[in-house]
Amino acid sequence: MLDYLELESDLTGEEKLVRDEARRFVEEQVKPDIGDHFEQGTFPMDLIPKMGELGFYAPNLDGYGLPGLGERAYGLLMQELEAGDSGLRSMASVQGSLVIYPIHAFGSEAQKDEWLPALGSGEAVGCFGLTEPQHGSNPSGMETTAEKDADGYVLNGSKTWITNSPIADVAVVWARDVSADGSPVRGFLVETDRDGVTTNKIEDKLSMRASVTGEIGLDDVRVPEENVLPGVEGMKGPLSCLTQARFGIAWGVVGAARDAFEDALQYAKDRDQFGGPIARFQLQQGKLAEMATQITNAQLQAHRLAELKQRGDLRHQHVSMAKRHNVRVARDVTRTAREVLGGNGITTDYSPMRHMENIETVYTYEGTDDIHTLVIGADLTGIEAFE
Ligand code: FAD
Repeated sequence: MLDYLELESDLTGEEKLVRDEARRFVEEQVKPDIGDHFEQGTFPMDLIPKMGELGFYAPNLDGYGLPGLGERAYGLLMQELEAGDSGLRSMASVQGSLVIYPIHAFGSEAQKDEWLPALGSGEAVGCFGLTEPQHGSNPSGMETTAEKDADGYVLNGSKTWITNSPIADVAVVWARDVSADGSPVRGFLVETDRDGVTTNKIEDKLSMRASVTGEIGLDDVRVPEENVLPGVEGMKGPLSCLTQARFGIAWGVVGAARDAFEDALQYAKDRDQFGGPIARFQLQQGKLAEMATQITNAQLQAHRLAELKQRGDLRHQHVSMAKRHNVRVARDVTRTAREVLGGNGITTDYSPMRHMENIETVYTYEGTDDIHTLVIGADLTGIEAFE
């Protein structure tokens, strides 16, 4: 596996174990069927509890049966999962960073006891409802409301593009508390079997096909006061979750790029044209050298991000830079790798085009490339291009 600057020689024994276990899991349990799932638009549901058993959800958090590993181990895990498929890493990102993390960070003891062991083991599935039909890049414009009454809250609104909503047991829904001064954004744990909740699946995706995506409709949904996340108010709630998930994405996409590169390298050595392997042509070597260099640069950013996060110095702007850069690398590398495979490259027999299609989603979700560009621009200049 490509590790040109030997970054992996710095890994601890524990980190190597995590990486090897995740790599083996992907080789044995994901790769054989993932092309079929991608074609059929299904998620390999049997892997949900298996990933829980292996400690793949929120591996960097502790207590409540969670693994309590370091940040680099978390990153390595996301990298190996996304080498399998971005849909698999999305499952782990949503469950870990967007559902377990907010309950762990902002939940009551009762909420933690009820949900963290079940979510960590994969016995329960969660989803994160922030995006709305009219508010994607600008989630603070959200229209979903929560209104207090004698028994708790009544939620109304709709969320869309929600990973896992059709298969989720619980949704972390972000809504404006219109009963409080200034209508602050608050997080609500909404069990999906409550009256008034609908979770329609979004069909016909051409990207992230091995991942279930849906809507969340909220029509006079009643939740008790105990379902409000008590520890946070305002947009810092959802945004802090996104910083956790984006860290995992900055690592994960390196896995997708590396997997596509490995396929292309092998193919270039195996495929004969004009009396020998295409890998002997300078044009092909140029592509391989460029892909390897780009992946190495992405690996450097990912590893540095983990060091900063581990010592508590990570800023969300650092994450924006790495998410933006590494997804761009994955976008370029998967396309070039597809090219090296010629006609065979457009099938699901090889990984590059599947990764390439998935990366179109990753380029857009968790902050589009444009939005991260503006975050970095604002950090450099001190001038916000958007509010
Ligand atoms: P828009 O915000 O409408 O953007 C359209 C275009 O305009 C983009 O190119 C954007 O970069 C550009 N643009 C917008 N504002 C500016 C600006 N100020 N300056 C310059 N350009 C700008 N959301 C969740 O809450 N939970 C999930 O689990 C989840 N999963 C997803 C899974 C998939 C498969 C997909 C596709 C999306 C998912 N999302 C999820 C939603 C995702 O986060 C949004 O799609 C994303 O934030 C972009 O919003 P939008 O699609 O409404 O695009």
